[in-house]
Amino acid sequence: MNYNVNEKGYYGKFGGAYIPEMLYPNVEALRQNYLKIMAEPSFKEEFNQLLKDYVGRPSPLYFAKRLSEKYNTKIYLKREDLNHTGAHKINNTIGQILMAKRLGKTRIIAETGAGQHGVATATVCALMGLECIVYMGEIDIARQAPNVARMKMLGATVVPALSGSRTLKDATNEAIRDWINNPVDTHYIIGSAIGPHPYPDMVTRFQSVISEEIKWQLKAHEGRENPDYVVACIGGGSNAAGTYYHFLHDENVNIIAVEAAGLGIDSGESAATSVLGKEGIIHGCKTLLMQTKDGQITEPYSISAGLDYPGVGPMHAHLSKTGRAEFMSITDADAMKAGLELSKLEGIIPAIETAHALAIFEYKTFKTDDVVVVSLSGRGDKDLDTYVKYFKL
Ligand SMILES: *Cc1c(COP(=O)(O)O)cnc(C)c1O
Repeated sequence: MNYNVNEKGYYGKFGGAYIPEMLYPNVEALRQNYLKIMAEPSFKEEFNQLLKDYVGRPSPLYFAKRLSEKYNTKIYLKREDLNHTGAHKINNTIGQILMAKRLGKTRIIAETGAGQHGVATATVCALMGLECIVYMGEIDIARQAPNVARMKMLGATVVPALSGSRTLKDATNEAIRDWINNPVDTHYIIGSAIGPHPYPDMVTRFQSVISEEIKWQLKAHEGRENPDYVVACIGGGSNAAGTYYHFLHDENVNIIAVEAAGLGIDSGESAATSVLGKEGIIHGCKTLLMQTKDGQITEPYSISAGLDYPGVGPMHAHLSKTGRAEFMSITDADAMKAGLELSKLEGIIPAIETAHALAIFEYKTFKTDDVVVVSLSGRGDKDLDTYVKYFKL
């Protein structure tokens, strides 16, 4: 079984590029050039240098002693929360801004929900001196004021999306519209392992530095490169794709994908796409998608803004359907509890997205000598308000 993208841009039956004709030249230019550009020695050198000196890589692989004792197994945390801007998203935006420059683009657009990808994009645009326009739903702009302020401070223009539910999917529609109107000078930096081919593969490759580092770091800790389990939370699926990438074809490494169940799978307020989703097309690719009987996209819900997406990247749809990955869904309540627990046991306040991945230890028992690597995708600073209100701290 192949879990990577094939030459037609598919993972099994998922993926492809379902785009308006007007976008074809842009997406096609990217498709024809991305692997060539990524293989250039000067590209690799610049990418690696920035990951090291600007992002702060390699991120540590930390053995969580007290957490491991509590769950009677060996838990390692891959500390993406220590990256500049506080999450894994910067790995991808660094890669894509270098790609945009090689393609001769001078203007960058992006969509954002919670504002994390918007901040990561505004950051690299400031770094490279490129114009940056971030589309964000009007509702999200109101909910995520600190990140809006960050983007403005970094010199980006934040444009409210006023249509539909005025959240992430509407912001994405606006970004796509912008790209259609500005095909020559503009690159669209997509923030997760989603979108038309080649985006899911390109984003996955930029994020694959996570599993590349896990291999040599685990070798140093445990004397072996492969853990027994890799675990990551899934919104669109970029931190997960990067965490799994170098283990996809090592069948002795078990893959666990954690989705947001919101108030519960059957509550109508959920984002557990692998359970509730049906095959459909969203934002340029065929994947699993939460939708009504007549194909209207269902509003997803999760307490964590970063997991609040009605679809899932095509690679993960394939991992789910083939059974290569075990999918678990975690409710708001369980995630919040796990976030508080990590704070108290290890002195690390995780993002609420990340806390979903940590909550699986209450539901799944591992062997004492199992090595379980969890992607600590981001830090919880942005979520303090939510934690404080939730626990009445
Ligand atoms: C955005 C975000 C996610 C979800 O995005 P993926 O593309 O699925 O990784 C998870 N964790 C954090 C901290 C995020 O900011």
